[in-house]
Amino acid sequence: MSYSYEAPVSQALFDRASLVTPGGVNSPVRAFRAVGGTPRFMVSGTGPYLTDADGREYVDLVCSWGPMILGHSHPAVIEAVQAAVARGTSFGTPGEGEVALAEEIVARVEPVEQVRLVSSGTEATMSAIRLARGFTGRAKVVKFAGCYHGHVDALLAAAGSGVATFGLPDTPGVTGAQAGDTIVLPYNDLEAVHEAFHNHPGEIACVITEASPGNMGVVPPRPGFNEGLKAACAKNGALYISDEVMTGFRTSKAGWYGVDGVAPDLMTFGKVMGGGFPAAAFGGRRDVMEYLAPAGPVYQAGTLSGNPVATAAGLAQLRLLDDAAYEKIDAVSAAIQTLLTDALAKEGVAHRLQTASNMFSVFFTDSDVRNYEDAKKQESFRFNAFFHVMLSQGVYLPPSAFESWFVSTAHDERAIERIAAALPSAARAAAEATEVSA
Ligand code: PLP
Repeated sequence: MSYSYEAPVSQALFDRASLVTPGGVNSPVRAFRAVGGTPRFMVSGTGPYLTDADGREYVDLVCSWGPMILGHSHPAVIEAVQAAVARGTSFGTPGEGEVALAEEIVARVEPVEQVRLVSSGTEATMSAIRLARGFTGRAKVVKFAGCYHGHVDALLAAAGSGVATFGLPDTPGVTGAQAGDTIVLPYNDLEAVHEAFHNHPGEIACVITEASPGNMGVVPPRPGFNEGLKAACAKNGALYISDEVMTGFRTSKAGWYGVDGVAPDLMTFGKVMGGGFPAAAFGGRRDVMEYLAPAGPVYQAGTLSGNPVATAAGLAQLRLLDDAAYEKIDAVSAAIQTLLTDALAKEGVAHRLQTASNMFSVFFTDSDVRNYEDAKKQESFRFNAFFHVMLSQGVYLPPSAFESWFVSTAHDERAIERIAAALPSAARAAAEATEVSA
């Protein structure tokens, strides 16, 4: 199969989309603005592959930004979805599927005693923060630069992901009042956290952090960082919120909690638990969760929360994610990491591969990346050249240097061989790239 940079059908669709949708997309990073070129409009996905509107097949290393951990169109998930759809698509009443999904989450993640289902990760973090503020009677929220928690007004200060991609320091539309109670600190800096508690005694409702950040590229917590956050929160009467929307049920059976064992007061989930449908959740300590309506005074609701089709998909996916599945994902991830670093080293490209369990990303820099400031120092023009040469050979990477790469149980030998074949020329392109040519 030969690949070219041209994608005429995708381009025609993008032109059409741009007339009726801002920037032609429904989520900014999909528009390829960071890397340039034509965003690929996908028409189908099977296992580790996506097929675009021009009929080209790609090995998918984005996996819908995390959810497709079993690959695309997994037969068991499709079967569960079809059966659920046949029974009806939304009832606006409680249903058994949402109980079963909540039970599965509670069984997997020990600190979660109760859980509330919502429809997106943004909703989960927004609601968790409201709950933390309601529970503590305090207003201020601590977050870390480069951590993305969805497009919640109060959390869009110094966020990663698309905000990092576009280099927006802030976004218009978020008022001073909405962001004024947000304290943004450098990631991996416990001293800064202690200082914030010292400067704002009795005012901080919660510290929210990505359990292991993947939205400024992969920047894992340094040893003791999450433990230190938990201790600082406990000492100062604030809640420790671990955002596991990305890491949850991906980095292990119990997400990042399964890796570091630090028990948060509240946690947020999304992506994998929805099986490719809009399902997300927040949960944690029973005494805190019972502050939510109708058990308690903090209001939170959703017409489609616990949707029967989404919960069926999520449950089917989670039930297949046993120890063997995680061993497979870890092995695939390790194999790709080795190929990647070997190819870049061979071309003499300065880089840092950073990992968090099976999540990984590469920074085009020769120093360690411990926080957002470090991440921004990388030579992202090299990534852009690398990205396009991979794309032209049928490998679909996240279209930004500030995103994690994701693999699935479906990534087989053939998929890995295609990645291996594409890497040498992509590494060469990264080596030869200059800021002007990008
Ligand atoms: N939290 C984290 C850590 C995320 O990575 C994301 C999305 O990428 C979100 C929250 C927001 O989730 P959603 O896009 O479902 O609103």
